[in-house]
Amino acid sequence: MMARARILALTEDSGSQGHPTLLKILKEALKIVVEGVDLNPARIKIEPLPENDRARLGLRGNSWKEDPPTVDTIRLIEAIAGRLLEPAGFVVFHFDTDLVWSKRDTAPKSNRRKFETHLRDRVRRRLLGEGAPPINPRARPPLTAEQADTALCRLLVLSPCYSMESWLYQATNELRPLCQNEHDSDDHAQLIAEWSEDRARLDEVHQPKVVMKKCVADHHNEALANSFPAEEVYCAGRSFYESVENLRSCTALVEALSHPVT
Ligand SMILES: [Zn+2]
Repeated sequence: MMARARILALTEDSGSQGHPTLLKILKEALKIVVEGVDLNPARIKIEPLPENDRARLGLRGNSWKEDPPTVDTIRLIEAIAGRLLEPAGFVVFHFDTDLVWSKRDTAPKSNRRKFETHLRDRVRRRLLGEGAPPINPRARPPLTAEQADTALCRLLVLSPCYSMESWLYQATNELRPLCQNEHDSDDHAQLIAEWSEDRARLDEVHQPKVVMKKCVADHHNEALANSFPAEEVYCAGRSFYESVENLRSCTALVEALSHPVT
């Protein structure tokens, strides 16, 4: 069976729960982009960078934001460019906005801007064959500007406000017992009740992982992702909605997902 899409799924969270969490959230997002989508992994492949790929080091923590880029980040940029050059190749990149929703566009050095200048622009230059010769000797010949722009449309972003936990804590039915198992906190019980009543609230919480540092923190991200109430959070119209719409704006992705099962 030919894969309709080969999605390289990248997350700046290099912990052991990082990739499975992203995978689950991304699948939930894709189900909203195309209702009834067939996510059979033979058709829609979603994969991390290989374990031993040094480009992984360019991804973790803040290293992708370094300017000038490190050797590892250059490898990451090459890996992204390489995937975009493949037929049916897509890249989905998760990074935390590190800003609440209402401040997301106000900081001149925001992570979103850094993504555009430090990642997307550099991938573009790589696709155009500009700059230093590629580290990878199997790199392909350069594209024209128009071809590069078409390829870059397949570099997609998941950028939660404030962070991935802002989405994961929306699984309030699972969050509540995880918190209660650790302590008896009226403040947290109140917060979780508010988050469950109004799905737009979590996007306005500064550093949610720190707010919950004494109980849930990021210890249960994968379990929370499995209970992520995607439709409800989408309907709140905040950063998850925005990321889903970013995926939907990629015509090539929608076409790949929409292909009827034969
Ligand atoms: Zn708690």
